[in-house]
Amino acid sequence: MANQHPTNNVGIISSGFYRSSGAYHGAIDFALPIGKPIYAVESGTVEAHNEGCPENGYINNPCGNYGGNWVRIKHSANFKTKSLHLAKVFVKTGEYVKRGQEIGLSGNSGSSTGPHLHFAVLINDVQVDPSSYINNQKPYPETDISQKKKCLWVCYLSLLCSFGGFTTTKESTLIQDWTISSI
Ligand SMILES: [Zn+2]
Repeated sequence: MANQHPTNNVGIISSGFYRSSGAYHGAIDFALPIGKPIYAVESGTVEAHNEGCPENGYINNPCGNYGGNWVRIKHSANFKTKSLHLAKVFVKTGEYVKRGQEIGLSGNSGSSTGPHLHFAVLINDVQVDPSSYINNQKPYPETDISQKKKCLWVCYLSLLCSFGGFTTTKESTLIQDWTISSI
């Protein structure tokens, strides 16, 4: 099954995940007009959210801790996603959301220079490059913890861990995005 995309505009990436001297972007930015639907990529519980920021922000606008209106979903013990700079948020902290559920509308809120979705994937609270998930090169990590334990056991026997989308050493050593690490 193909991974759920966080937007309908799958091709327009305005900024990728990168690290270079003094610069770090721990997410993928999708250029989107204001008001397009944003989806949960897997089921989970809204761990935190922010709303009430104007739909248009500007660079270094601190509203919502620079993320504007945003949603952070906990899909499993060690897998979360974040969607930032929304115009509207449709879900509340503590609410259960389903895969593909519309969680808000794209916007330009917080520290943002143009309408876009900042989409981050966190493994063990560390932001990893979302591109392999966006490109369907690997599935999102298992959201059900008992399934994961079962699969881990199988993995030890069959060395299929890479197939299951498990965290690699490389991913878990990436540094966090200092600009929005507290969201
Ligand atoms: Zn971004």
